[in-house]
Amino acid sequence: MITAILLGNAQDAGVPQAGCGCENCRAAWAAPARRKWVAALGVLDAEAGEWFLVDATPDFREQLHYMQAQAGNARLAGILITHAHMGHYTGLIHLGYEAMAARALPLYGTRRLLEFLQAHAPWRQLVEMSNVALRELLPGEWHALTPRLAVMPLRVPHRDEWSDTVGFVVRGPSRQLLYLPDIDGWAQWERRVEDVATGVDVALLDGSFFSPDELPERDVSQIGHPLVTDTAARLAGLAADIRFVHLNHSNPLHRPGPEREWLEAQGFKVGEKGERWEL
Ligand SMILES: [Zn+2]
Ligand SMILES: [Zn+2]
Ligand SMILES: [Zn+2]
Repeated sequence: MITAILLGNAQDAGVPQAGCGCENCRAAWAAPARRKWVAALGVLDAEAGEWFLVDATPDFREQLHYMQAQAGNARLAGILITHAHMGHYTGLIHLGYEAMAARALPLYGTRRLLEFLQAHAPWRQLVEMSNVALRELLPGEWHALTPRLAVMPLRVPHRDEWSDTVGFVVRGPSRQLLYLPDIDGWAQWERRVEDVATGVDVALLDGSFFSPDELPERDVSQIGHPLVTDTAARLAGLAADIRFVHLNHSNPLHRPGPEREWLEAQGFKVGEKGERWEL
């Protein structure tokens, strides 16, 4: 049995965001229960006694602790990284000399991501001190992590300053889950999201921004993420289990209200920390 557990649903900067006093952040500063960890996924193979972390976020400490409580005697057996933006890899800092001093923990990513980590401090030190052991993943190919668990990276268009960007299809013995926290837009993708979402059992998709109204001072076409309203229109009526994750701190879907009610009336959900799927 493979269990995937969602470890957070916020965009890279989390909720509350540093220095922010927007409605969601004010509520989260006032009530710690309303804080949101940055999006990440834990994948447990209890039989193998191993679990894997997808993305090492700025909330790595808490997410590791939370996941270990779910994982029983299983040990962290590897970390998979989608891309080199702040919310997805900077938690790796905790593997190093000043902190956990991990020993050859497998670190999975595309060639360009691994080359970035090898070339730049402080990440380079994790490699030089063998805190991590780099394992290259080829987009579009299945990679076995345990006898029952495999992952396939799917390359997606994104602003790729330091690395390319992938989402992951996670495959257990009976079901598949897609984890795709960042993409510039569905139209720019070589795949049809309609096909990808219906080809898996659960799809966790980029829900960074709800609508153009959310950012009155920004040009929506420059945001570099699909709007939830557009994604919902594109995927309406499909027989697919779709959850939105990676919500920006400004996103009204972080709180109960008309936007969330609208989303659920369309047949979609917000992915919440602690949700789990047997794969
Ligand atoms: Zn992100
Ligand atoms: Zn805010
Ligand atoms: Zn990104």
